[in-house]
Amino acid sequence: MPYEEQLSRKAQKMKKLFGKYGEVRGILGAANPYGYRNKVTAAFGFRNGRLISGVYEKNSHRIVNIDRCLIQDDRADRIIHVIRDLCVSFKIHSYDEDTGFGVLRHVMVRTAAETGEVLVILVTAGPIFPGGRNFVRALREKCPEVTTVVQSINPSGSSMVLGEREKVLFGPGYIEDLLCGLKFRISPASFYQVNHAQTEKLYAKAMEEAHLTGRESVLDAYCGIGTIGLIAAGSASAVTGVELNPDAVRDARQNARQNGIQNIRFFEGDAGRFLKELLNAGERPDVIFMDPPRSGSTPEFIRSACAAKPERIVYISCGPESLARDLGEFSRWNYHLTHITPVDLFPLTEEIESVSLIEKR
Ligand code: SAH
Repeated sequence: MPYEEQLSRKAQKMKKLFGKYGEVRGILGAANPYGYRNKVTAAFGFRNGRLISGVYEKNSHRIVNIDRCLIQDDRADRIIHVIRDLCVSFKIHSYDEDTGFGVLRHVMVRTAAETGEVLVILVTAGPIFPGGRNFVRALREKCPEVTTVVQSINPSGSSMVLGEREKVLFGPGYIEDLLCGLKFRISPASFYQVNHAQTEKLYAKAMEEAHLTGRESVLDAYCGIGTIGLIAAGSASAVTGVELNPDAVRDARQNARQNGIQNIRFFEGDAGRFLKELLNAGERPDVIFMDPPRSGSTPEFIRSACAAKPERIVYISCGPESLARDLGEFSRWNYHLTHITPVDLFPLTEEIESVSLIEKR
């Protein structure tokens, strides 16, 4: 489907979902809809006498082999190829979920658009990677753009790609990227938006909606590595970030230090529970950014957010259906959608990102 048509379909879908709640503004499209994904995960398997790597077929663990994908960073596709070839020459077998035989489960490649740094994560079932040192040396010879390699050990049967234990095999174990003029550290398990160019538009829109004057106290809920809060900090009096993933919180604190930003603090925990405690302690944010996962927020968070009586809530969402549900919850407390701007963060897919301004009426 031509890109313009993809955009108008997404715009229509958002009009249908949100037109009854508030104004639906024009969708912000991408200058280049290809090659944007900076995080590529490939499952490894063996079929018909051949090592293959790619994605799972819908609702299954059957691997669809992928040599190149138009939405992925070319460098990532090439690195995954090289790893596949190296596995053959180093006799590293893909892990078989049924028999428990083999070593390599997945490869994840994360690239930083502006710094060019590249993180390769080798996900193994057990702690042993036979010939690992030589394997990494060979990988670096063939792909000198790789700046760090991490082994993630995932013995579990769950559908999570990364395990809890990590071993740094080469380099610092993380990459850094520049976004909206700030530098961010990204660890293997930390969330980072996959489309750099469109994320800059998304965050710029979120900042515009927040109308910060330098006097506000700001909450960045579901803050990940602190991107939104750190970008807002320059136009706010103080920022508080809250995030569930401890690795991301560690990155967020490091990102504040590294960028010399002092009017921000980060807390690890559930956003809903944390906001309730914040209110109990007598704090009241003037502006709330919230950027929950696809499943959306919770009635508990929304109730506390409204009880804080903020001037504005800026809701960044990657799940239109959960956003519609959450807007219903907001309206129970008299906070309503003023307008929503869809952003095409994921061209050539069905996914739709958006920024909503929610205010009291
Ligand atoms: N605002 C960040 C991250 C958004 S992704 C950015 O733009 O990069 C959503 C984040 O919410 C993830 O980092 C995830 O770990 C976190 N999260 C998920 N459930 C949460 C909860 N109950 N409380 C706080 N954070 C949560």
